[in-house]
Amino acid sequence: MKYAELRNYVGGEFVPAAPELPLLDVYNPSSGTIISRVPLSAVREVDAAVRCAKAAFPKWSATPIKERVQVFYRYKALLEQHIDELSGLVTEENGKIASEARAEILKSAELTEFACSLPQITPGEVLEVSRGVECRVERFPVGVVAAITPFNFPNMVPNWSLPNAIALGNCLILKPSELVPISAGRIAELLREAGLPSGVFQVVHGGKDAVEAICDHPGIGAVSFVGSTKIAKVVYRRATSNLKRCLALGGAKDHLIVMPDADREMAATNIVASMSGCAGQRCMAASVMVAVDKTDHIIARMKEVAGAMVPGKDIGPVISAAAKERITRYIDEAESQGAKVIIDGRKAKVAGKEDGYFLGPTIIDYVRPDMRIAQEEVFGPVLVIVRTKTVDEALAVENASPYGNAASVFTESGGVARYVMEHASAGMVGVNVGVPVPREPFSFGGWNESKFGVGDITGRGSIEFWTQSKKMTTKWNREAGVNWMS
Ligand code: NAD
Repeated sequence: MKYAELRNYVGGEFVPAAPELPLLDVYNPSSGTIISRVPLSAVREVDAAVRCAKAAFPKWSATPIKERVQVFYRYKALLEQHIDELSGLVTEENGKIASEARAEILKSAELTEFACSLPQITPGEVLEVSRGVECRVERFPVGVVAAITPFNFPNMVPNWSLPNAIALGNCLILKPSELVPISAGRIAELLREAGLPSGVFQVVHGGKDAVEAICDHPGIGAVSFVGSTKIAKVVYRRATSNLKRCLALGGAKDHLIVMPDADREMAATNIVASMSGCAGQRCMAASVMVAVDKTDHIIARMKEVAGAMVPGKDIGPVISAAAKERITRYIDEAESQGAKVIIDGRKAKVAGKEDGYFLGPTIIDYVRPDMRIAQEEVFGPVLVIVRTKTVDEALAVENASPYGNAASVFTESGGVARYVMEHASAGMVGVNVGVPVPREPFSFGGWNESKFGVGDITGRGSIEFWTQSKKMTTKWNREAGVNWMS
């Protein structure tokens, strides 16, 4: 095993797992080899982390925000300084190709940059509401909070929550995906090096049991979750029924509506990049292309672009053997139901990495909206094409999806673009953009079954979630009158 057995990071130390805890193998998806083992923590480990976080909270929350963010200036510099090593880790445990892994670390740095601006964005408010009477609003941290993250961005998704939550004065416990747990330990080390006091950030490894313990623990006040819709619902229900605030981001099925007037090259290259980037394992990946009327010239170019991609070089593996099998089954089923596989990645092979979980980009035309592959999240490098005659029919297909993460339209018409942006049922929409991720200070978050809870997970939209406001009314001048509001 390349890496030693992983340890939880609690109270500023990496603590060995109790001997009775089960261990799970961690795989390198490119080679199919075991690179580490992760302990599956439960109630006792979560409780130990909560106790340390509670002890650290009074001092950390009383530290002025201007001082708290100094840690994140240093952390951002460390992310940049160690980018080769951190992106290498992401490639190793998740399979992403080098350029994608690098982009992930740069995005973590960008998220941290936003946290550094929080003192300027959250100064509070004050108003003289009556003669001599002032109302002010100040933000206070929630307390001990937790973030539960998925496998597809081992470094970035933890950094959606941790810099903002911690800069705003909370003590955060991270429960990373058990499929990609190695990056979390490096994040902990870099935060420690940046000067974050013990107990303010901790890592508890595990799966279902650890998540349930987090949802149930009375000492945790807020939980952010990112993962599949099925588990987002479980976590949202369980955390809120235990009277915690919860923001649970779920899965996606993103639709790209392509008009006949779209710029051929821009549309084709953006759509293929969106469906194949990170091997299609992004909640922002193009999943359904709704081709309106005469778009064959664009589809022909997409075939060329996708067909030229080399597995292992331009596209990494999917996360596991089980994921590869599941994705392949979706493709086989669509084909057996009459859809036409025009680019087929099922037979992808990478020399020297025969045991890796590779799939090439796959494009399937003439898919009917009622097929399973058009409705369910596939989470692999697969794009289905549904054909419609009008933009309203295309919007009806998009609107019928239970998800609502992202949607895009490719067109040269401003009117059509605006119409689709208004009528798509998704939280993040784009025009001529394959991956319409909002960048900070704007916030990341979908609609419908792609997000449960109020607010968004990054940017300005996360400030309300990680804080509680205190409304303060003061009167110092004795001459101010008395009325029923006094
Ligand atoms: P997942 O739901 O399987 O796992 C997410 C987290 O939940 C992990 O930490 C895991 O340990 C935990 N978990 C798994 N099973 C559990 C159970 N039964 N009870 C309690 N906790 C459990 O998701 P994944 O496969 O790691 O990630 C892929 C999914 O995440 C996709 O659906 C993708 O769309 C979604 N995702 C969404 C966003 C977004 O912003 N909406 C971003 C990234 C990924």
